[in-house]
Amino acid sequence: MNIDDIFSQRKRRWNKLISVRKSTESQERECPRCKHSTPVRMLAANHWICGECNYYFSMTPKDRLELVCDDDSFKELYAKLKSSDPLHFPEYEKKLESCRRKTGQQDAVVTGICKIADKRAAIAVLDSRFLMGSMGTVVGEKIVRLTEYAGKKKLPLIIFSASGGARMQEGLFSLMQMAKTGAAIEKYKEAGGLFISCLTNPTTGGVSASFASLGDIILAEPDALICFAGPRVIEQTIGQKLPEGFQRAEFLLEHGMVDRIVERGELRDVLARILAMHTK
Ligand SMILES: [Zn+2]
Repeated sequence: MNIDDIFSQRKRRWNKLISVRKSTESQERECPRCKHSTPVRMLAANHWICGECNYYFSMTPKDRLELVCDDDSFKELYAKLKSSDPLHFPEYEKKLESCRRKTGQQDAVVTGICKIADKRAAIAVLDSRFLMGSMGTVVGEKIVRLTEYAGKKKLPLIIFSASGGARMQEGLFSLMQMAKTGAAIEKYKEAGGLFISCLTNPTTGGVSASFASLGDIILAEPDALICFAGPRVIEQTIGQKLPEGFQRAEFLLEHGMVDRIVERGELRDVLARILAMHTK
């Protein structure tokens, strides 16, 4: 390769780098509710909330952990657990691979330990980008391992849910995780553990019907959909229109299923206060 080739290769690489940087700087996301487009960096600075209509975009585990944990305090556990394809479900392996590439994670939950305002806690965040945050064997197993770890180390447990429910590609193996996670959480609570469940949009199906509803304290984000079967399914089944705001966080708060609705801006403070009250 002669010197001109090397220079032109470098120039190409340099131009590519600049164009990638420009494209992420100018990238915009459209709000699904008000259709207003906002630059990604502004959304990120505003905790992924639409400045026009207050719509809550879903957050990645990384953004969520950055929002609530003390700087550099998060240590990931069980990151390498990986789903197999027990039913040889068509296309499942392929979908898993593409989700792994997209998220950089092996499955739909990130688990670990952290500090919040200097109080230690075990924390899990489900990721709705990974097969809709569905609970298969790995999500169930990671929640159980983290809960048992929290029990052994006498740590409070915080779980952020965002899930479409059980993972259909793992059939019965998925459904078993409901009982498994529920039993582990109950055992943890009986031994005096504090479980704070944070429901984000959407928390549905087998996740809402297992560990997510078992919090000693249940927090929810504004307007989050929280339900077992979604409104469309219920309407089709009973042939009736549902009341306004049905299955939204505010509706559940009014009906005693949620303890408090917490805006993202105050989330870290609220968690810190709960931890300070309940831990020595
Ligand atoms: Zn909006």
